[in-house]
Amino acid sequence: MIRDYDYLIIGSGLYGAVFAREMTNKGKRCLVIDKRKEAGGNLRCEYIEGINVHRYGPHIFHTDNKAIWDYVNTHCEFNHFVYSPMANYKGMLYNLPFNMNTFYQLWKIKSPLEVRKYIENQTSGFNKINPRNLAEHAIKMVGEEVFNKFIKGYTEKQWGREASKLPCSIIKRIPIRYSFDNNYFDDRYQGVPVGGYNVLINSLLNGIEVRTGIDFFSARSHFSELAQLMVFTGKLDEFYEYRFGSLAYRSLRFETEYRPINNYQGVAVVNYTEKEIPYTRIIEHKHFEFGKQPGTVITKEYPIEWKKGNEAYYPVNDLYNNNKFKKYQKLADCESNIIFGGRLAEYKYYDMHQIIASAIKKVKTLHY
Ligand code: UDP
Repeated sequence: MIRDYDYLIIGSGLYGAVFAREMTNKGKRCLVIDKRKEAGGNLRCEYIEGINVHRYGPHIFHTDNKAIWDYVNTHCEFNHFVYSPMANYKGMLYNLPFNMNTFYQLWKIKSPLEVRKYIENQTSGFNKINPRNLAEHAIKMVGEEVFNKFIKGYTEKQWGREASKLPCSIIKRIPIRYSFDNNYFDDRYQGVPVGGYNVLINSLLNGIEVRTGIDFFSARSHFSELAQLMVFTGKLDEFYEYRFGSLAYRSLRFETEYRPINNYQGVAVVNYTEKEIPYTRIIEHKHFEFGKQPGTVITKEYPIEWKKGNEAYYPVNDLYNNNKFKKYQKLADCESNIIFGGRLAEYKYYDMHQIIASAIKKVKTLHY
């Protein structure tokens, strides 16, 4: 049967946009649909008082993969932003990630050797154990005190679960260093697009038909007929009508406000690491682009449990949910004309560079 399009791409976030770009470049006819009013998924920025506001949480592009860095640089120019958030614990400020600055601020210890000894005193009980969860892994790496001040409270409000019930992989994202280096990432390449992420999204989707404000599920059979192949980037459990029950996700609520001062906190992100403060971080958006505007826009980020009707941001990759996901994945593996990709459809805590790599790899494996 002749169809209007080669590919129908459901979701215009990074996975959908890269997939559409690459297939369009290969001469395929692509249609991208998205239920939101604007394309770009969680990358989409809102321009407020001259500032690109990261509406869906702070996004810092980082990668160790030169090919991926080159790829994004063909679509936009990146600035020299380096992510160095601060931690606020009970009103005191500390550097992140955990490094010699943090340790000096905590204990006034100046030498890496002494810091190691100090931490080892707290971790000796964990020497021989193979950590089974985030709490054990963190304590083994940095000791009880750093865990209690910077990890336990933040993690438990972020994930709505005890740190002892979460996988180690979550905390492995953050480096621990015995040098005075506040760069949150170990990756060689890092930055934020000059002009904001909309520049990247617009470039990826340039010349491609994108229809926004359209919910795939509202006319599923109609959309399924439009193209030879479909790319679905939404929640896999929703795609299969939750037949094995819904997967757990974390959602977010944002409180954004304009402040008529030129600098609110002096840094793009401050993490509030104690449990009693209900938000996890305050983002001051102008700092991503070294903004000189007279005012500023700040956002408080509140984590909440996902329920139907909310946006899903983070998969909760504990054993229970991963096992449930595998059942959905088995259904997905049997589909011959549907591709599933991205953070939600693959139920993986992907960063941007990993999503791009995953979409490009998929395009290379397809022979249609
Ligand atoms: N984390 C923490 N304290 C912090 C920052 C992060 O305990 O100050 C933990 C927390 O469990 C979080 C995880 O590390 O979910 C990953 O942090 P990352 O900054 O990568 O989170 P993202 O920016 O993806 O939300």
